[in-house]
Amino acid sequence: MTPTRTSKLERGRSALGPALELVHTGRAPTRAALTAELGVTRATAGAVAAELESLGLITVDSRPGAASGTQGRPSHRLAVNPRGPVVLAAQVHADGFRAALVGLGGRIVATAPGCGTVAADPAQILGEVVEAGAGLLESSGRRCVGAGLAVPSAVAEPEGTAINPLHLAWEVGAPVRDIFTRALAEARIGGRAGETTASGCAANDINLAALAEHRHGAGRGAEHLLVVGTGHRGVGGALVLDGRLHTGSSGLALEVGHLTVDPGGRPCHCGSRGCLDVETDPLAFVEAAGREPGPEVSLLERSQELISTEYGSDPAVRTAVETLIDRLGLGLAGLVNILNPDRIILGGLHRTLLETDGERLRAVIADSSLWGRSGSVPVLPSSLAHNSLVGAAELAWQPVLDDPLGALNG
Ligand SMILES: [Zn+2]
Repeated sequence: MTPTRTSKLERGRSALGPALELVHTGRAPTRAALTAELGVTRATAGAVAAELESLGLITVDSRPGAASGTQGRPSHRLAVNPRGPVVLAAQVHADGFRAALVGLGGRIVATAPGCGTVAADPAQILGEVVEAGAGLLESSGRRCVGAGLAVPSAVAEPEGTAINPLHLAWEVGAPVRDIFTRALAEARIGGRAGETTASGCAANDINLAALAEHRHGAGRGAEHLLVVGTGHRGVGGALVLDGRLHTGSSGLALEVGHLTVDPGGRPCHCGSRGCLDVETDPLAFVEAAGREPGPEVSLLERSQELISTEYGSDPAVRTAVETLIDRLGLGLAGLVNILNPDRIILGGLHRTLLETDGERLRAVIADSSLWGRSGSVPVLPSSLAHNSLVGAAELAWQPVLDDPLGALNG
């Protein structure tokens, strides 16, 4: 059959999403790269880039320039539009919340933190974080096309409920996605074409951090990426396999926090003792350093400040760092034996521990793991600021990446 004009247009439209994703993840910095990655003609790639530009999503350099680090003919440079639409990203953690506006490319445009105890009713903090986001949107004047939420709990799908919010007073099974969506409606936060207000999406914070690191950060190009981190309380883990999050049969995979790293250690809320969750989080660090966990500041910030100011001068801080590194290393060694990752990324306090004495941590992992000894898995610090927020933004951007024209123009 001869291709009709309509089918050509349809083909062009179906290339918009993949093209936007290539620019979004930095894999198509030029029109020539876009042409090669999409496997289309130069004319089609040019038309697709022009359409994304007319939607306000990307910019196309009007004059071709030499692409840095490449040989061959000059090509038009493509970039995320620095004044394009944004999404509202929200994160709730044991010490409060953070709201942010995030553009394409994982770029944080504006952010606002809130510190305090999280009330038992999720509607309260979700209302506060959305209000903070509404304030950011108002002062930025940018169009909002969606909203995503990161929570310190596994989130069951398709219900959107928080099923183990262990470090928050929330009820088990709290319908966080629906509550978030209601807060967005009350604050009149805009969404995609055809929506009166944005419909929210929600997921586990460490899963989102892993997704963000894989698309925009230290995890780019990894095929079996293991991410472990501790932000405020407890320890989370995530695995990205061939670009997709491995979430298990019901969203509960990679609950790494309950690996035993000290059989005689402190009791854990799971019923066991000496779990990674309670032996390597900021509270464990502050206590190991002999300090009182003050209520007024974030435990993560307090731990990081202790390490940056007193690691060299206070033996108690140095010993606490070594103790936590040894326990973390044991936990990671167990994961290396089971999962055989090709890269490990550490976030939050674990990242600080790696940066403080990476040699010790790598030695503990290698000494206690089969694959660690033979292959030495690269262990890297996370490279994105606020990676859970950037990951929450990825959730919100997904419908736009799937169908840019439909999401923006209807
Ligand atoms: Zn436990």
